[in-house]
Parts: sequence; structure tokens; C-alpha cells
Amino acid sequence: MVSPLVRVMRAFTWIIHEPAVAKQMVVRWARLRAQYGLNPLVIHANYPVNLAGGNPEFHTKSIAAFRGEVERALALRAEFLVLHPGSFLGSSREEGLQRAALAIEQAVDGLDLAAGNLRILIGNTAGSEFSLGGNFEQIAELLYLLSDFVPAGACIDTCHTHVAGYDIVSEAGFAETLDQLERTIGLKQVYVWHCNDAKAARGSKLDRHQHIGKGSIGLEPFRRLLNDPRLTVTAFIAETPIDEPLDDLANVNTLKRLVADAKALPGGKRRSPASTL
Ligand SMILES: [Zn+2]
Repeated sequence: MVSPLVRVMRAFTWIIHEPAVAKQMVVRWARLRAQYGLNPLVIHANYPVNLAGGNPEFHTKSIAAFRGEVERALALRAEFLVLHPGSFLGSSREEGLQRAALAIEQAVDGLDLAAGNLRILIGNTAGSEFSLGGNFEQIAELLYLLSDFVPAGACIDTCHTHVAGYDIVSEAGFAETLDQLERTIGLKQVYVWHCNDAKAARGSKLDRHQHIGKGSIGLEPFRRLLNDPRLTVTAFIAETPIDEPLDDLANVNTLKRLVADAKALPGGKRRSPASTL
């Protein structure tokens, strides 16, 4: 039986020693990206990376692993790299935030993200006890700490927002939650939304994604989100479960229909369809 810690350390070994992206792979990727109209390209950092943790060995490996993620994202010409700020277990939340900001600064040292048009997005989390990023204020604070040395922004996950306790289900709650987002992070700083329904209840802190419209969030909040005229620079991505083959396609099509339905209404919104769905 392999302990969870050993498994994570093995995963690190894999991530750190992952070779640089081969040139022919970059060329092939660019061709496929153009063929499928994938724009923007958003990469999610590997989960073992924890830049907020206090364990020195873990921390050093996390920085090296995240640097590798940034290098590969630059090689693949990605626009965004999504990162969860990590767990501050063993220290205070404030120390965790400071540590995460410093670790990101160290990881990108000498890499020109601005020239590569790459932005690091801090993802909000479900708000479990020691995880950073369970509320918008923490993300805003981290973005403030990062603002001088790396292009950064936020990626907001609907499931995480809902189970962290925010109301995005009722019409009034949705409006208030977006207002809170505007007052803290700023809607223009939210470059990507992860559209996931939730298996667990609002406020449960349980991160379990569900198919769009089949969970405790339901369809309407996604319709409001996708058609909000303030979210014009935003990409929407489904991170829903794949229980059966093609489930992902069905979820993306559900989201696309919510945009198409709104456009069909008199006075419907005129934003262009989300190309990364
Ligand atoms: Zn999640």
C-alpha cells in the first residue's frame, strides 16, 4: 500500500522531470489549435503543486514543478495558466498567501510572461478548512501581491463558488455575488470561468462537479452567467464529469444552447458565442 504522501512525491518526480515540449509537438499543437478554433488556450496546473504550504521539501518541489508548467505553457503559446493557491496547513492563512505569492515570483524568475502573452490565473476553491482562495477577498489579496511582477488574473469556478457559500442560484443572489466579485477581484480580472454544476449543497465546502443543469446549481444561473454583458473578455470552460463517453460534448452543447436561446429572444444579448466551449 503506497501512502498518499509517497504518491504525491512520485507525481512531483514526474512533473519536474517532464521533458520540455518537443518542437514538432509545438508545431502539431499549433495546427490542431487552429483547426479547432481553440482560443484562448487555458492550461490547468497539476494538482500536487502547493505553493502555500510550509513543508520546505514540498515547497521547493512545488516551485520547480510550477516553473515547468509555466515553461510548457509558454512553449505551447497558452494565454492562461490556472493555479489553485494551495493549502496553508501548518501556518496561518496570511503566511500562506505571502508564501504563495513569493513562490510564484520565484517560479517565474527570468521568464518573460508578458512577451509570451501568458497570464497566471488564480482559481477560487471550494473553501475547505486550510485551502486558500475559498473567498474572493483572498484571491484579490494574492492578485495584489502578484501585481508588480507577473501578469495575473482570476479563474472563477461556479461549483467552488456555490459550495463555498456564495448564492449564485437565486436571481438576487447571483446579482449580489457578481457585485461582490466586482468589488473584490474586479470582473475584468476574471479571464476564465469554469462552468460546473455541483453535486453538493451550497455552503457544504465539498468539491464535487456535476453535469450542467443536473446539480444543486441548475440551468438558470449558467444562462445568466453566459449572457452577462459585463463578461465580454471571459472564456467559459466546462470541467464536468465524464461518466459516459461524449458527456463532455453534451455539457458543452448545453452551455452553448443557453447562449443561443438568449440570443433568440427579442432584445437578447449580442455577445459572440464562447469559442472555448
Ligand atoms: Zn473543483
